[in-house]
Amino acid sequence: MVKCPYCSRAAMSPLRKSALGPGRAVNCQSCGKLVSAHWSGIFAAIPAFLGGFVFMKSESRLLGIAAIVAGLVLMGLLHTYLVPLVRSDA
Ligand SMILES: [Zn+2]
Repeated sequence: MVKCPYCSRAAMSPLRKSALGPGRAVNCQSCGKLVSAHWSGIFAAIPAFLGGFVFMKSESRLLGIAAIVAGLVLMGLLHTYLVPLVRSDA
């Protein structure tokens, strides 16, 4: 579950968190305070970049598209399960 740094209750659904990029803040659904993804979330984008790289280098368009899709899925998973939520005081 995606825990809020203020109230320790569910701040948002995992699906919503996977769409929350670094530098964006949203209101916790339990207490309404602003929370954002930790800056380490930018590293979650690495698989997507690698997928794009494979896409450019690959002879097969299908393989390249598969690499991008896999990279995006991995990015979503990393973002949802590894990147912690932090308080957003800004
Ligand atoms: Zn909260």
